[in-house]
Amino acid sequence: MRRLLGGALVLLVAAGTARAGDPYARARARMIRAVEADVAATRARIGRDRLAPAVMEALARVPRHEFVPPEWKDRAYENRPLPIGYGQTISQPYIVALMTDLAGVGPGDRVLEVGTGSGYQAAVLAALGCRVFTVEIIPALAEAARRRLRRLGYDRVRVRLGDGYYGWPEHAPFDAILVTAAADHVPPPLVRQLRPGGRMVIPVGGAFRVQTLTVVEKAADGRVSSREVLPVRFVPLTGGGRL
Ligand code: SAH
Repeated sequence: MRRLLGGALVLLVAAGTARAGDPYARARARMIRAVEADVAATRARIGRDRLAPAVMEALARVPRHEFVPPEWKDRAYENRPLPIGYGQTISQPYIVALMTDLAGVGPGDRVLEVGTGSGYQAAVLAALGCRVFTVEIIPALAEAARRRLRRLGYDRVRVRLGDGYYGWPEHAPFDAILVTAAADHVPPPLVRQLRPGGRMVIPVGGAFRVQTLTVVEKAADGRVSSREVLPVRFVPLTGGGRL
């Protein structure tokens, strides 16, 4: 039944965008199904059968083809990471959805993303109603993402050029922090910028090896605990904070 409901939701969303003349609507609906299948296949590890409907709806609304280089547009809705230049990648949709779900965010939440890349993850968070602050270390990517997000109407997303290891203290504390590049340890400045009761989702592990997607929680009393969720593979977090 849950699957049926999920399917009906996807069809409704697809129908809505198809009416508006969106040639990618079918591909996007297929992508949603592929993400649902991955979630089902990994249910034991991630501890749930399906992700929050609001997360899947946000994923179904964001035009991923606008976030990939022109030569990859035709494959933009495959459930896989794609190159975005400068040796970086836009994450796999399943991972974007999972990280968003694990962060447990909703409308009005202040969210810091480290590793803007294409801006896709930031757009998904914005589509959920979050107030997004995102930091990117490669100037050309930061500038392209800033322009892209504005053009697509995600104008509340704030993009900053800098080393995200140190977060964005002026806008802290954050309800959630998503780190979309792998670090060999959880950056202490980011833990400090997490609100008590907040969550950080971060791939932890060495560069170019399998890392572990980890959820770090800061309790109301300030105590920090962490939980390992899934083996993943991200590009490395670079910058001054690298060990
Ligand atoms: N979230 C992105 C994908 C991220 S790829 C998307 O949705 O498209 C990882 C990104 O992290 C790359 O763009 C890389 O340049 C950036 N990055 C790596 N180290 C960083 C650091 N210390 N601070 C900020 N960004 C960093």
